[in-house]
Amino acid sequence: LFSRPVTFMLGVANLEQLPPENKIEICFAGRSNVGKSSLFNAVTGRKDMARTSNTPGRTQQLNYFDLDGALNIVDLPGYGFAQAPKDIVETWQGVIKQYLRGRVTLRRVFVLIDSRHGFMKADLEMMKMLDESAVSYQIVLTKADKLKKGQMEKRIREVVEGVKKHPAALTKLFATSSEKSTGLEALRAEIAMLL
Ligand code: GDP
Repeated sequence: LFSRPVTFMLGVANLEQLPPENKIEICFAGRSNVGKSSLFNAVTGRKDMARTSNTPGRTQQLNYFDLDGALNIVDLPGYGFAQAPKDIVETWQGVIKQYLRGRVTLRRVFVLIDSRHGFMKADLEMMKMLDESAVSYQIVLTKADKLKKGQMEKRIREVVEGVKKHPAALTKLFATSSEKSTGLEALRAEIAMLL
């Protein structure tokens, strides 16, 4: 599946622009700086995905990527960025909430969590929104290389415990490092299974 190129399809700034629901899709979500672009690139083998999504103007939209005509990968805008004006943040939360609730082809959201920090307020808010939308999601720990083995094991136990309180969260999680290319194959396999 991932041997074929991933191409940028379109940026969705409002819900009227969403592509037709004729293909399954998955989403990547996470706080700004969690390592989402790096993981995206590492998983898909694409080099300029990060640049595409982080281009000014494209940061506040749902960025759609096409994976071999088989699957849409949606890059949700990074959240928890204090600098964004409050009204923009609220508008965006509204858009994302509506998207999550109404999108019948959305199969799975991968919620990226920085291994160093674990769950933070903005993550828990996102997870609450997913629970309320009944969208199945999984936690992907990023930057696993930043922690020592013992610390990482502790973090994983904590996250496994934490997701139990979230009805739409699946218990299986992924520990990844884009830097060291760890955990990528497991994530690819999970995505392939959704097809
Ligand atoms: P985004 O804002 O979520 O798209 O995050 P980026 O992918 O741009 O990464 C944010 C920062 O974290 C950058 O400085 C990356 O080099 C760094 N980073 C991303 N992934 C990893 C990783 O797996 N390990 C380490 N050590 N650093 C990472």
